Formats: sequence, C-alpha cells, structure tokens
Amino acid sequence: MPKFPKLSFAESLGEVVLPEKCMGCAACVVVCPVGCLDYVDEKPVEVEECKVCGICAQVCPRYEFPLPALEEFTFGRTRKPEEEFGVYRRIVVARSQDEDVRRVCQDGGAVSSLLRFALRTNAIDGAAVSGTSENRPFHPVPRLVTTPEEVLKCAGTKYSYSPNLLAFNEGVKQKKTSMAFVGTPCQIQAIRRIQTVPLRKHAERLNFAVGLMCTESFTYEGLIEKHIKDELNINPRDIKKMNIKAKILVTTESGDVEVIPLKTAKQYTRASCLPCTDFSAELADISAGGLGLGGWTLSIIRTKKGEEIFEKAEEAGLLETKPVEEEGRALDLLVRLSKKKRGE
Ligand SMILES: Cc1cc2nc3c(=O)[nH]c(=O)nc-3n(C[C@H](O)[C@H](O)[C@H](O)COP(=O)(O)OP(=O)(O)OC[C@H]3O[C@@H](n4cnc5c(N)ncnc54)[C@H](O)[C@@H]3O)c2cc1C
Ligand code: SF4
Ligand code: SF4
Ligand code: SF4
Repeated sequence: MPKFPKLSFAESLGEVVLPEKCMGCAACVVVCPVGCLDYVDEKPVEVEECKVCGICAQVCPRYEFPLPALEEFTFGRTRKPEEEFGVYRRIVVARSQDEDVRRVCQDGGAVSSLLRFALRTNAIDGAAVSGTSENRPFHPVPRLVTTPEEVLKCAGTKYSYSPNLLAFNEGVKQKKTSMAFVGTPCQIQAIRRIQTVPLRKHAERLNFAVGLMCTESFTYEGLIEKHIKDELNINPRDIKKMNIKAKILVTTESGDVEVIPLKTAKQYTRASCLPCTDFSAELADISAGGLGLGGWTLSIIRTKKGEEIFEKAEEAGLLETKPVEEEGRALDLLVRLSKKKRGE
C-alpha cells in the first residue's frame, strides 16, 4: 500500500470536503484516534484540535485512491481486462425462499436472507445496515442489527445516503467480534481502506461486506421533501416502496404508483455522486443489484469468503438461484452501467 505523509485533516481531507468531493462515508470520523471529527449534515467536521497523525487521509475513498493495491489486498490479484465489473468468482440471479423477506425486500431479498442466515448460524454477531428514521419517513439511518427480526425491519432500499460505517463503529464499541457490513460502493471502498492501513480494531471485526450496486443517491430534502411531499402532494409516511426501473416508481400504502422521470430526479442527485466511478461495488465480498430483474437480486460473488456464506445459504434452502445467462439483458445492463460510471 502506498505510504502517505502525515498531514492534518485540513491539509489532506480539506481538499476533499470543501469542493463537495466528500460523499460522507464517515470513515475519517470513525477512525480518528483522538475523536476530533464529528459527523454533521453528511460531512466530517473538525470539533477538536487535529493531532496530525494522517490516518484519516489513508481511509478516505476520495483521497489518492489506490485501486490496484486494494484489489490485490481483497482478491490477491488485479482485474483482468475482460472483468468489466471487477474481479469475481461467480455471478448468479438469486431470490430469497423466505416469505417474510420477500414481503419487505427491495428486489430478490438475497441481502436480507444472507444476513439472517449468518446471524442464525452465529457466523456473525451483528450487521451494519440502514433503517428508517422515526421522524423523517424514508430517511435512512445507519443501524447495527443483531437479530434476524431486526434485519427484516431494515430491508428495502432508501435512495438517500446512509453512512453505515457509523453503525459498524457502534458494533466496534459494543465489542462485536464478527460483523457483516452492507453499504454503497463508496462505503465498501472505505472499509477496504480501513482494512489495509491496517486499523485492526475495525478491520478484524469484519466478516463479510455486501455492496449495493449504485448509480447515484439523492438528497432527502430534494427528492422526498421538495418533490414527493411538496410537488406530488404525497405524505412521506404513505410511501410503501421506491424503486428505480428507468424511472423512479413511488408506491404508496394505498397501492397507487407515482412516476418520477429520472431526468426530473437528476436535479436531486447528491453532488458528491457525480465523480463516482464504481457502479457494482467492485471491492465487495458480494455485490447485489436489481438491474430491472423484478423480484430477483443479481449477485456477484467476488471473494472466497463471499462464496462460502452464499453457498451455505443456498445449501440451507434459503436462496433460490439461476444462471445469469438466463437474464442476458441484466448482464448487459451491468456492463453498460459499470462502463458508463467510469466514463467509458
Ligand atoms: C442509494 C442506492 C442506489 C441504488 N441504485 C441501484 C441501481 O442503480 N441499480 C441497481 O441494480 N441496484 C441499485 N441499488 C441496489 C438495490 O436497490 C438493492 O439494494 C439490491 O438489489 C439488493 O436487493 P435485495 O432485495 O437483495 O435487498 P434487501 O434484502 O431489501 O436488503 C437491502 C439492504 O440494504 C440496506 N440499505 C437500504 N438502503 C440503504 C442505503 N441508502 N445505504 C446503505 N444501505 C442501505 C438495507 O438496510 C438492507 O440491509 C441501489 C441501492 C442504494 C442504497
Ligand atoms: S485522524 Fe489524525 S489527522 Fe485525521 S483528524 Fe484525526 S488526528 Fe487529525
Ligand atoms: S473519509 Fe468519507 S467522510 Fe471523510 S472526507 Fe473522505 S469521503 Fe468524506
Ligand atoms: S453514486 Fe457513488 S458516491 Fe454516490 S452513493 Fe453511490 S457509490 Fe456512493
């Protein structure tokens, strides 16, 4: 891993935070050994004197990001030219066999089923996921879950930003020994950087990381409050589910579906998503996405660890799978979106 000079937060990450490159993953806040950073309005803020140890710069995905070295660390090799969505071992389309999961999940429920299986079999003692705020409906809130029931309560996608590393850090404070992490590609990048420093207090507690494929995330104030609440006159408490299938579909509790064209929604894209180049969470153990499949999760199994947990859940009858070749359009879309995000 490249060595970094010891710079203060202002000298290194000042360059990231000020021009809106910072996507608010919270990695710097979580790792600062003296606790001089706080997380305010989706950004790190210096609240006490920085001791110039330089660690925060080493974990920031937006500061001199060494992708080939991180691939070597995660997979033992870098990607081959034909691996257009990153290194992988197996790619399948999967669906939960658990009715409780299918009722509340976003796509095929593969993510929630894996977490529930891992908790039930004691492979993990916690998972960092995203729940929903009591006061601001559909506003994501990082949550540390420790039971299969809690996993269910946090299923489904919230399209605003959820800094799940804060939930992972809660698990570290509670001395959890083996956790799963679920997050967007930028957060998977951060957790790999944490592992490679290495910051053992956090790194050693990660069992497996599930990355959610991601084109962009939207500001809550823009998409939910301004557009859905004020312009469409939908009370955010009445939103049952949001889905993106070439347009945003907002399903309400009464069963009505309101359509927001993606072109309209783009004005609410978080500015820090614009420079992002990772669609499919290319450093995750397992990556999951909907890709227009309707009721199935496209699952890219990238590491040996990811393969072990996925296969055990399959063998236990919790996941139904079919070859991705049966869903050629989803595979084409995966390649297209991965290239588009890299500007190719
Ligand atoms: C911001 C965002 C954008 C996405 N964009 C795309 C896309 O463009 N194309 C695509 O194919 N897929 C996209 N996804 C992934 C997709 O929505 C599903 O999460 C994925 O297919 C897994 O489905 P599932 O039914 O297996 O998950 P579920 O079983 O429903 O589990 C989903 C898990 O994700 C967690 N979660 C929910 N919201 C967030 C959040 N905001 N941040 C972090 N964790 C969260 C939940 O707590 C839960 O653990 C996006 C996800 C997010 C969060
Ligand atoms: S991690 Fe080190 S350099 Fe960064 S803010 Fe904390 S004390 Fe300063
Ligand atoms: S580590 Fe994350 S939160 Fe901190 S400056 Fe970098 S992108 Fe922003
Ligand atoms: S587009 Fe990139 S920066 Fe934005 S939430 Fe998704 S992974 Fe993170």
